[in-house]
Amino acid sequence: MNILPSATVHHANHWTGSKTPLLRFLERCYQDFVTENAGNVADYIPELGKADPARFGISLATIDGHVYEVGDSRIPFTIQSMSKPFVFALALDTLGAERVERAIGVEPSGDPFNSIRLNAENHPFNPMVNAGAIACSGLIHESKGAGAFDYIRQALGRFAGRELSMDEAVYASESATGDRNRAIGYLLRNSGVVTDDVNAVLDVYFRQCSVLVTARDIAVMAATLANRGINPVTGEQVMTPYAISRTLSVMTSSGMYDYAGEWIYRVGIPAKSGVGGGILASLPARLGLGSYSPKLDKHGNSVRGIKVCEALSSHYDLHMMNRNDNARNSIIADYDLGQSPSRRSRRPHEQRLLAAHHHDVRIIELMGTLTFANIDYVSRQIAAKPRPSFIIFDLRRVAVITRPAGRLLAEGFRELAAFNVTAILSGIERSSPTWQAIAEWTEGISNLRNFRLLDDCIEWAEDQIVYRYSGAIDSHAMTELSEQPLLAGLSAQELTDLASLGTIRNYEAGTTIIAASEPPLSLFFLKSGIVHVRLPNGVRIATLTAGMAFGEMALLEAHRSADVLADKSVTALEVPLADFQRFREQRPRVGERIMHNLAQLLADRLIVANTKVSVLTAS
Ligand code: GLU
Repeated sequence: MNILPSATVHHANHWTGSKTPLLRFLERCYQDFVTENAGNVADYIPELGKADPARFGISLATIDGHVYEVGDSRIPFTIQSMSKPFVFALALDTLGAERVERAIGVEPSGDPFNSIRLNAENHPFNPMVNAGAIACSGLIHESKGAGAFDYIRQALGRFAGRELSMDEAVYASESATGDRNRAIGYLLRNSGVVTDDVNAVLDVYFRQCSVLVTARDIAVMAATLANRGINPVTGEQVMTPYAISRTLSVMTSSGMYDYAGEWIYRVGIPAKSGVGGGILASLPARLGLGSYSPKLDKHGNSVRGIKVCEALSSHYDLHMMNRNDNARNSIIADYDLGQSPSRRSRRPHEQRLLAAHHHDVRIIELMGTLTFANIDYVSRQIAAKPRPSFIIFDLRRVAVITRPAGRLLAEGFRELAAFNVTAILSGIERSSPTWQAIAEWTEGISNLRNFRLLDDCIEWAEDQIVYRYSGAIDSHAMTELSEQPLLAGLSAQELTDLASLGTIRNYEAGTTIIAASEPPLSLFFLKSGIVHVRLPNGVRIATLTAGMAFGEMALLEAHRSADVLADKSVTALEVPLADFQRFREQRPRVGERIMHNLAQLLADRLIVANTKVSVLTAS
């Protein structure tokens, strides 16, 4: 076998710099097991017998694409039976599951890898024993003819993230001595599982077993299996999630030859070994492990490789059946309008309506990864209280919605729509992966809306409530100064005097009426339309409608702290600050009244802000 001399590498000697705990753990495995000398190098394929028994390499690839390497992780060796899962996945995707599943079973045989026994239908028990793997190679040959091997080699390369080559000597050696596998091939042809020329099919199989890989390659290939078929290093979707999940299933039940049951019981990580000394282990959604050490136990599994897998599984408690999830941890806040209205200042009659119907808008803020369990829990929280008319799901802190969760969530929206409840989503863009997770299931749901900002969702729902109970949202209505809370308590004469100091102004939607950067020169009383107050960093802090004042903070502060922009066309009375001050000074009672009103408005805002904070920090 041609060994790349430079490849023993760095790993053994250059362990410098800061290390992560996982790398230290892998190094400890290397130190602990490098002294393990039990087992024998496979020599039934003569060329394999030449392998250096001292070689030991470990590599672990994470699903975010980081690859750890220790020892001889870059020494090439032949993939052998570790090719079987990948070629099975390839057959599923190339010929379709129906065709493949008709030819090859998925039951464990409990037999050694080279068993000649077939199942009751005279088909291979599963694709992890030689009979099933030869049948897979036959299926690929059926579809690709003379190009079959290259097709397989390239697919294996996509799993590894690099072009792979073949060890000619091992191939020639196995081809010269592989009569037992030929016997299996003829048996399969006899039962109609292999339809092409047996020698041509066996040639594909022997070549695929002789593909050269390193422990690093195997780790990346295993991590691709763990990552629903997306190579975490290259980002390529190598195979479909269907093919990958079925491949991991047969690895679970039959990957470790006649040790498979014991293996999944003790280690609990789907794995496949090869007589070349490699072991591939793939823990779904977590990691891929590749190890290389040529000495094998009596089942044909690498002795040191098994020890590494056992240590990894037990040290970090990674057994795949040993998992839990907290169904309740995704709800960070659950409240209604009463506890957190929108930032839009409402006129008194609207406030009264919203206060009376605060239960009608429920807001549920979610976070993290939404799983099947989380969403079911959310559904039960919804069902536990009287049904509101609007439920806002704030998803801005949601990183991922799993597929099962996406489906369950969409079923929930459908259920709500049937009762005329509108579901409103905030914090996700239509182009985001989070939206994609639900988009597939939400088609045709009428009562589903989305806005980028939570405040926009709340404001929209409030408008619906106001409209529903008062019949109109009077954003165009003209208001009188007497409706201004800031001017409450002023006499008609005082209001007329004040009005005469100002000028009526009209602004188009989108105009900046007040710029934070400019000195405060006037105060505004909004007569009609809507404006919003925006901090210099772009955050909208309030939406104001007819009857409100803005720029009033200048009565307390010498600087502007926010911009004010027209949302809709606006009519406002602009009163120069200097004139307003003079007006106050000339009428001390009025001046005191206005400052009292201002204090009241600020106190109200503070109460709202405090409630919002407590809603978010309560649970
Ligand atoms: N090429 C080997 C054979 O068919 C693969 C066996 C294995 O790795 O288990 O004998």
